[in-house]
Amino acid sequence: MSMKIAIEELAGCSGCTIAVLDLHEMLLDVVDKADIVYSPVIMDVKEPPEGIDIAFVTGAVRNAENQERLEKIRRRAKTLVALGTCACYGGVSGLSMLHSNDEIFSYVYREVETVKPDGVIPTDVPPFLYRAFAVGDLTKIDYYITGCPPKETYLKQIIPALVSGDKLSLSRKSVCAD
Ligand code: SF4
Repeated sequence: MSMKIAIEELAGCSGCTIAVLDLHEMLLDVVDKADIVYSPVIMDVKEPPEGIDIAFVTGAVRNAENQERLEKIRRRAKTLVALGTCACYGGVSGLSMLHSNDEIFSYVYREVETVKPDGVIPTDVPPFLYRAFAVGDLTKIDYYITGCPPKETYLKQIIPALVSGDKLSLSRKSVCAD
């Protein structure tokens, strides 16, 4: 039976998922062994199914909906991988802590001309948590892949190894080396 893979999106820009898609033909080798069963960015599936083997989670936890989705994917996946700097450390979403919620909402819905011309702040936005969290602050994470987005060279080594169940052996490298 094929392995089931999911990619969950929390508070981020979807760039990490695009980085996975950018692996191009290498993905064909992955889908030979695994089915991608859930990804809000690349398929129209609203809920992660039960019985996921490996779930990648991108983005930080900034609001109550992010937290709920993180908890759900943790319950439904045997292995949970934090993918990208937002998920691993808070990243760009963490910068929101430099401003109050009122400042953020006012900027997004009133000041950015291209987004919300009527200036009305919607009332159905999920409430922010008191701070942004890395996913590992709130649940058990099995592997971390950093980078904004993660480097293709690492994804090409890590994803096939995870899917095949092979032992990972990455070279030691400074994050500043390249
Ligand atoms: Fe986007 Fe970078 Fe965050 Fe990935 S780590 S979701 S690319 S901002």
